[in-house]
Amino acid sequence: MKLVPALPHLAAALLALAACGQSPPPRPSVILVSIDTLRADHLGFYGYERDTSPFLGRFAEEGVVFERAFTSAAWTLIAHMTMLTGLYPEQHGVTERNRALGADAPLLAERLARAGYQTLGLYRSGWIHERHGFGRGFDVFRAHTTAEEAETNLFEELARLDRSRPSFLFLHLFDVHSDPASKSPRTVFSAPPPFQDLFRPGATERLAGKCYDDLRKKGLPRETVEDMVALYDDGIRHVDSVLERIFARLESEGRLADALVIVTSDHGESLAQRGNWGHGGPWQEGIRVPLILHLPGKARAGERVGEIVHLVDVPPTVLDFVGLPRDPALPGCSLLGELPADRVVTGGNDPVHYLVRWPRKVTRAGTHFNWVDLEVDPLEKRPQTASAEEFEALRNGLRLDPRSFHPPGTASDLSSADREELKALGYGGEVGDE
Ligand SMILES: [Zn+2]
Repeated sequence: MKLVPALPHLAAALLALAACGQSPPPRPSVILVSIDTLRADHLGFYGYERDTSPFLGRFAEEGVVFERAFTSAAWTLIAHMTMLTGLYPEQHGVTERNRALGADAPLLAERLARAGYQTLGLYRSGWIHERHGFGRGFDVFRAHTTAEEAETNLFEELARLDRSRPSFLFLHLFDVHSDPASKSPRTVFSAPPPFQDLFRPGATERLAGKCYDDLRKKGLPRETVEDMVALYDDGIRHVDSVLERIFARLESEGRLADALVIVTSDHGESLAQRGNWGHGGPWQEGIRVPLILHLPGKARAGERVGEIVHLVDVPPTVLDFVGLPRDPALPGCSLLGELPADRVVTGGNDPVHYLVRWPRKVTRAGTHFNWVDLEVDPLEKRPQTASAEEFEALRNGLRLDPRSFHPPGTASDLSSADREELKALGYGGEVGDE
């Protein structure tokens, strides 16, 4: 599919102006929204039957929707590091809880800050944390707990920006994710009124007081599964409503006029497809993410793109949009340009890794290899045995640049408060007690 770039060649225009001795126009602004734990197939504009996302559905119609977007792992830490560096896990190396991004691997915020951008990162603390390197390049790196708090913080920070300079906003919302363990009554997923129990009245009461780990067990009654899925969907509707308010105000303040907006997620969620809950593993419910590009003037409104894309494409797309040079060491491509038809993408979190050349997906779990045809078996119900040779042959198709591998550093020690926070979010096993 041929795609027309949204803007004229900004880099060439800037060069031409510089040659004439004129000051170049300010670069355009960029807004990147990551809705943690949001499954693409639970959104109406990806075909879901419930009306979970009326605002995002309209927003998507004004922009470009990518039908087959992949993340690098169903884990916040690895996936966001990919989204914000443009590197696959084996390249950025931040694949374990005690690792930080190597000093020589640039983050998108650092690239933009060097080009004169004001950079603003608003995030839910947990895996996104300065200790892993995420704060690098941000003028403001501010944590929130809820989407409502993020909204308040956002407009406080935006009011402080210099409107004559371009800005980069990274907004991470966590409210679709399961509840913190400290919440009472804890119902695994929950949303504030009026969204709570919107899709299945009484679900909260029926699940109240039940232990998260009990509810995650296999073989739950169908009613309980349906209650939990409905509560997950309530959370999507909640975030959708907050985003509707945020974007209405951004528009009324004129902050969208020149901006590229990218809306995506770091990973999905298992909702008992295989009897399992939570996230992790190579399956599509965790690996397929929503991805929308919203361009100035609603350019390319209504386009649906079928080529496979990946979170590694986020930084190259932003660099292309703002007119900064492409980094040839990055494995991704600009989503504003022509996309390769025969592309391989990858991801993983030891010991589970995947490779996709559409429609074939090959997974490795330790020494076991499987494949599925995602056109024929989109829910991966009938995996077939694959070989190590096929996995390796596909992997060679990535053609990763040797310069793009960055040895990770060591994350600073978790404070006891941060450790408790991560455990409360359900990551006890990953954090440990030491
Ligand atoms: Zn996450």
